[in-house]
Amino acid sequence: MKIALTFDVERDPAITRILPRLLNILEDYNAVATYFITHDYGGYYTNHSGRIVEKFYEIVDKCSKLGEIGSHVHFRRKNGKFCVDYDFQRELIENATNMLREKGFNVKSFRGGDLYFDNNTLQILEKLGYETDSSVSPLHFNKLSNNVFVDHKRVTNNKPYFPSKEDYCVSGDSTILEIPVTRFFFSPKINFLSFSFSPCLDRVPGSGISILKVWWKLFNNTPIIILYHPFNFLTEAERKIHCFKNFIDDCRRSEIEFVTMQQINSQWRAHARLEMEGSGAIS
Ligand SMILES: [Zn+2]
Repeated sequence: MKIALTFDVERDPAITRILPRLLNILEDYNAVATYFITHDYGGYYTNHSGRIVEKFYEIVDKCSKLGEIGSHVHFRRKNGKFCVDYDFQRELIENATNMLREKGFNVKSFRGGDLYFDNNTLQILEKLGYETDSSVSPLHFNKLSNNVFVDHKRVTNNKPYFPSKEDYCVSGDSTILEIPVTRFFFSPKINFLSFSFSPCLDRVPGSGISILKVWWKLFNNTPIIILYHPFNFLTEAERKIHCFKNFIDDCRRSEIEFVTMQQINSQWRAHARLEMEGSGAIS
């Protein structure tokens, strides 16, 4: 069973209070993860603004040594309002990408803030040399402010896919591999975020593993993508960090393989090529 642990690293107090502790656990267990680093809060509207890679270079560098660095952009203007116009998205993603690459982190994977993603985002990522996106989650719908909607309702499967350039919700001709954040319950009424988060934070440590195994079988060995925000650990930090450690420990005992976005990408491309050549099914 393959699990991708993914962290959206925001500029909030958890970056110094929580993330280093999680990194120590992951280091102890030699567990790779993908860290989507936020860039966009340009000092405008939060108390914790600033570009993470500039202000916390050591932390990002450690993340990089323990896995993969990706880019994470919230499409918000200086006043905090959402805006998803092509030019604005392009400006923000380009800035974030350049900054990370200038600092030596050759980002190839992206996740939109609030899981926002549309056909423009796809086009921009292609132009900037990205290979992987993990913004989509099946059935996810969320109304942000300013009439901006995150609408992945037409994506109905957890399986990675190459989106169509005309419609990112269906398979097509893009070079970007979409690796959806795993949805564990296919009922629109259940908030997927709480469920993508809970497997490691249950009050009974480790009880998440059995549900993950069911999903692994149900979705034909599709890698399981778990989304974390370090700030979720700020309340009840000791209990949650303890549960996280137990979860990683249980994964290791169950011989679960941790993978990064780029590792999934290269495996998936190889499978896709084999399938195209008609030389066998995915094992
Ligand atoms: Zn975010």
